[in-house]
Amino acid sequence: MSVISIIVPCYNEEKAVPVFYKAASAALENIDADIEYIFVDDGSSDNTVNEFKKLASADKRVKYISFSRNFGKEAGMYAGMKHAHGDYVVIMDIDLQDPPELIPKMYDLVKSGEYDCAATRRVNRVGEAKLRSFFARCFYKLINKISDTEIVDGARDFRLMSRKMVNSILELSEYNRFSKGIFSWVGFKTKWLKYENRERSVGETKWSFWKLFKYSIEGIVSFSTVPLAVSSVCGVLFSIIALIGIIFVVVRQLIWGGSAYGWASLICIILLVSGVQLLCIGILGQYLSRTYMESKRRPIFIVKESNTEETDR
Ligand code: UDP
Ligand code: MG
Repeated sequence: MSVISIIVPCYNEEKAVPVFYKAASAALENIDADIEYIFVDDGSSDNTVNEFKKLASADKRVKYISFSRNFGKEAGMYAGMKHAHGDYVVIMDIDLQDPPELIPKMYDLVKSGEYDCAATRRVNRVGEAKLRSFFARCFYKLINKISDTEIVDGARDFRLMSRKMVNSILELSEYNRFSKGIFSWVGFKTKWLKYENRERSVGETKWSFWKLFKYSIEGIVSFSTVPLAVSSVCGVLFSIIALIGIIFVVVRQLIWGGSAYGWASLICIILLVSGVQLLCIGILGQYLSRTYMESKRRPIFIVKESNTEETDR
């Protein structure tokens, strides 16, 4: 019988754990595969780990990994995949915004061999703040313009993947992880399932606007080098403007003479140009800092305790 590993990254979700487990077990009761749950505690400060332990003592299929601190959801998903023994791997949130009832359908699609991955995307952003949806849409438009890797708007991390695909993802062991890009970058045939956005079951979202903003910068820097070209384009543009300016000033001096005015416009121009220069240095810095972090080769996560081992399937 095939094994499906279900990876669930959790951060301060003590209330959601039992609710999720109940809903998932009910949805997966009749599936013709063995199930392995891999709960990843991302350095929670509440009782999340104890909830895992309770489940694990009652159900042998429950495995858990607990991080030494909060490493982020990306690290949680990566750790889960590293520890997954299954022939198929599911990644999902614990808050039931990813409906477990979809898993049997996803499993059928991938098991048939036609697809390597069954992924989900939400068709709307109901229940999300207007401003947030607006920025999200802008982000997807921008990144798809400047990146060769397609980042699907509304795509969730909720997906079922074949072992082959999971192994390819594990080979991308970069420190700065942007999974929405990584899933797409490795290729493989993906079937997209659509569903309506749902409200969280219990607890509240762990993503502040600032966290999402940083995550979007991560996505752009990880999957596009176009911003690096911005400085070159600005350089060429400003050189052309400067050249026209020089010709204008010289001609004016020759015809009318005494052109020592215009200091206010001069200051504006100096401010503009130095602003653009700083912007370009900043962009360069974003890439450089990522390169710096990658070159340190720090581990993506550190396990404090767990009841399972890493696999090298
Ligand atoms: N999560 C995590 N580490 C973090 C933040 C979130 O493991 O630093 C988990 C969280 O427990 C949940 C999933 O990632 O299972 C999605 O988080 P959330 O529901 O808060 O995000 P949203 O659905 O609002 O985008
Ligand atoms: Mg959620």
